[in-house]
Amino acid sequence: AYVIAQPCVDVKDKACVDECPVDCIYEGVRSLYINPNECVDCGACEPVCPVEAIFYEDDLPDEWAWYKDAAEQFFAEV
Ligand code: SF4
Repeated sequence: AYVIAQPCVDVKDKACVDECPVDCIYEGVRSLYINPNECVDCGACEPVCPVEAIFYEDDLPDEWAWYKDAAEQFFAEV
């Protein structure tokens, strides 16, 4: 799945939400989150993010790798 990392925090531009064909990007308190159970890995959201916060899970910078777990926890708690 694709993952939204630190640059989204307190930005939440939402350009990605309009691009996602399966509507799997949800709003949290300080960031948007991609539901990894619904993401179809189309990549449409990644280039439209104005702060370059979106990465394929295997391409996350090391310091932001934990955002993958954060997304899984966000949707596990719903
Ligand atoms: Fe949605 Fe595609 Fe981005 Fe996954 S990669 S969140 S399906 S736009």
